[in-house]
Amino acid sequence: MAKIVIIGAGFAGQTAALYLGDALGKNHQITVINKYDYFGFVPSWVWVGVGHMDPEKTHFPLAPVYKKLHIHFIHGLVTEIHPDEQYVVAKENDGQETRLEYDYLINATGPRLNFDATEGLGPAKGHTYSICTLDHTLQTREAYQKIKERLSKGEKLKIVIGTGHPGATCQGAAFEFLSNIHKDLSKRGLRRNAELTWLSNEPALGDFGVRGMQIKKGKKVLTSEEFIKSIFEENDIRWEVQKGVYQVDEKQIYWEDYDGKKGSTAYDFAMLIPQFLGVPIKYIDKEGNDVSSKIINKGGFILVDAIYGLEPKALAENPDAWPSVYQNPNYPNIFAAGIAFAPPGSISLPHVNPNGMSITAAPPRTGMVSGIIGRVVAKNIIDLVKRGRMSHHERMTEMVAACIASMGDSLWDGTAATMIMYPVVPDMRRYPNEQGRDQFVTHLEIGLGGAWMKRMIHHTFLWKFKGRVGWKIIPE
Ligand SMILES: Cc1cc2nc3c(=O)[nH]c(=O)nc-3n(C[C@H](O)[C@H](O)[C@H](O)COP(=O)(O)OP(=O)(O)OC[C@H]3O[C@@H](n4cnc5c(N)ncnc54)[C@H](O)[C@@H]3O)c2cc1C
Repeated sequence: MAKIVIIGAGFAGQTAALYLGDALGKNHQITVINKYDYFGFVPSWVWVGVGHMDPEKTHFPLAPVYKKLHIHFIHGLVTEIHPDEQYVVAKENDGQETRLEYDYLINATGPRLNFDATEGLGPAKGHTYSICTLDHTLQTREAYQKIKERLSKGEKLKIVIGTGHPGATCQGAAFEFLSNIHKDLSKRGLRRNAELTWLSNEPALGDFGVRGMQIKKGKKVLTSEEFIKSIFEENDIRWEVQKGVYQVDEKQIYWEDYDGKKGSTAYDFAMLIPQFLGVPIKYIDKEGNDVSSKIINKGGFILVDAIYGLEPKALAENPDAWPSVYQNPNYPNIFAAGIAFAPPGSISLPHVNPNGMSITAAPPRTGMVSGIIGRVVAKNIIDLVKRGRMSHHERMTEMVAACIASMGDSLWDGTAATMIMYPVVPDMRRYPNEQGRDQFVTHLEIGLGGAWMKRMIHHTFLWKFKGRVGWKIIPE
């Protein structure tokens, strides 16, 4: 009987748990350990944040799902991994410490939200808000409500949304939050009192940490920069890009730009995405030594089968530098899925300003990408248990990703910017155009259809993550 432990039940961990439970649950021992006792459907927190969706509609308890799949669940935090002796130490929610042995381990712990890297950032110790956890989103919703009350009394206020660190990622979520705020304020007749600003570390509008997109519309080429610019211009949204935010106080957001110039952006309400790091866990060998360097990089992300250390140009030219099976080279029974794996570099073009500040969007590992990796890792573990060898692989240079950024949640007058890219990481070998992407599959579209799609995704994904009938035919 194989023992499989999954740490984290987000997009990656939950997808892996579904496949593993389905294939091995009855005859093998599968355990999921998660910080929360519920699964949170993160994308819909954008709607919770603007007060358009009841938070209860975005999460469900994990235990009943795992019972169906014969998966053991521990509500707690993994604090240590002992790769030689093959066990993890988890601190359960009731304070009890548990030791769990494994034959295969999946680390799917997502990001550590490193607000501390930017002075004054974040809801706990700083002045800005976040939509990265449900608790943060509820705080944001409350603060945004107060902003609306002030706007309705005629106050003129500045709302700034974007990235709060020179190396932040997840621009798509921030963009969607901004466009939902715009729509919400417009509907309430409050928009004229609010100045909306997009503040970001991207090299250009529409970069989204993936080096932007280009599509062919007839003979014309449309870039994501032109696409997002037209949305912002049409909706009177200001933008400031190439900004590395390093400090925030009660009134100003301080940044350095690409040229090394220092400046600040005034705000009354700001939601800024922090730097993401890997979740801190101790890695200890059988002699009690710290073996972190064999398992994680400096940012705390799990080292996998990528080629690390390439110069940006060499990385851009080598699609095989991106991992395909997400397996740690030193401990092959440890896998990483979702945000937890260490990418070999950025997708966006890196930039270091004259003061030495690297203003480079980290590569996004979106929900779709995280789910795909969760499936690949799970299927390979199933292979290893049943046949002793792996047969599944998918690099980010082979993955398609769709990002649907809603602008309002209404099925009647809502709209959404739909961005489909293939592959996620440009592959200059297969697509030797300027972008390294298939310009026929890659797509940019805005309209009501996207709003329907986004609503459909909310329902179908929650259905899938609950492991309900037919979940396997719903793609990641
Ligand atoms: C507001 C918002 C909107 C978004 N919208 C979209 C979208 O529309 N489309 C899209 O594709 N992507 C979207 N994303 C990105 C998407 O949510 C992430 O890519 C995805 O959640 C990453 O999945 P993951 O499993 O790697 O990490 P997570 O979803 O963060 O899951 C990690 C889990 O591990 C748990 N954990 C952490 N440490 C431990 C530990 N030590 N022990 C036990 N458990 C632990 C965490 O609590 C969490 O439950 C959005 C993100 C945000 C913030």
